[in-house]
Amino acid sequence: RAKDEGRNTARFYAPDINRASLGELLLENDLRGALERGELSMHYQPKVDAATSRLIGAEALMRWQHPEHGPISPVRFIPLAEESGLIGGLGQWAIHDVCRQQRAWLDAGLPVVPVAVNISAHQFAQQDVPKLVAEALARHRLAPDLLTLELTESLLMRNAGRAVEVLHELRAMQIDVAIDDFGTGYSSLSYLNQFPLQALKIDRAFVCEIGEEGASGKLASAMIAMAHQLDLSVIAEGVETEAQRDYLRAHGCDQFQGFLFGRPQAAEAMGAVLAASRQT
Ligand code: C2E
Ligand code: MG
Ligand code: MG
Ligand code: MG
Repeated sequence: RAKDEGRNTARFYAPDINRASLGELLLENDLRGALERGELSMHYQPKVDAATSRLIGAEALMRWQHPEHGPISPVRFIPLAEESGLIGGLGQWAIHDVCRQQRAWLDAGLPVVPVAVNISAHQFAQQDVPKLVAEALARHRLAPDLLTLELTESLLMRNAGRAVEVLHELRAMQIDVAIDDFGTGYSSLSYLNQFPLQALKIDRAFVCEIGEEGASGKLASAMIAMAHQLDLSVIAEGVETEAQRDYLRAHGCDQFQGFLFGRPQAAEAMGAVLAASRQT
């Protein structure tokens, strides 16, 4: 502690601490009005069927275009939103914006696919997510199979009791839920079995290893086998190479998401992807 070490040292410590966090503090302050100023948008990344490479879904990913600093990664601003209590508003907006977009695509006659929305830990703890989802679906007149949710492994582990209840509610509403970033937490097989989930997303870290020298895809293939034992469908995220795709396909992975198949893109570009999917 700087204070315990006397006045002189405190003078040196304080500016360092401030400098480290000032940028984030300013950014957090900017985030406060970002939604109202129209700086946030949802982008869409395709998910494809592993066997046919056909489009079968998409993940909605939030983007922030800062007026001075340009695009800010959600890896940076989602944690800020969580700390500052802004996540509730942003998370609610995300669900509504995705439903609004699905309705627009439907009205345009496009062949829509289910879109997954990420739910963060704080949002999950603070909000009645099933209620929010029900309201958004009703407002935009959407069937529940057009919206799915992604909850991270760590979120489920930290809130296990409540998570089981909420997942059962979502199941009753026919909302599919995937466990996201799987393999980065510490859940055991038996633990996972208590959650009524429909899909498991293998974290990019394990997909990355495939085809790398000195590493292997053994963890990924073990996860696929385990997930199938639990009747979960398996999505590999961050698939970038044909070697990764071929290995995962050979080991029975059900769906792919990654730059090899498509980057996250603005709604308009995603609309073109939907339109093109009709031909294939
Ligand atoms: P996530 O849910 O695991 O999303 C997948 C991330 O992997 C996305 O990063 C995506 O752009 C990236 N990705 C997909 N394919 C590839 C690939 O082939 N190579 C590489 N290198 N990356 C790939 P993004 O968009 O930066 O989002 C990062 C994280 O931020 C997300 O991880 C999610 O945890 C969070 N996030 C994004 N949007 C939202 C949101 O609307 N709400 C909440 N609560 N969290 C969000
Ligand atoms: Mg996700
Ligand atoms: Mg993920
Ligand atoms: Mg991830």
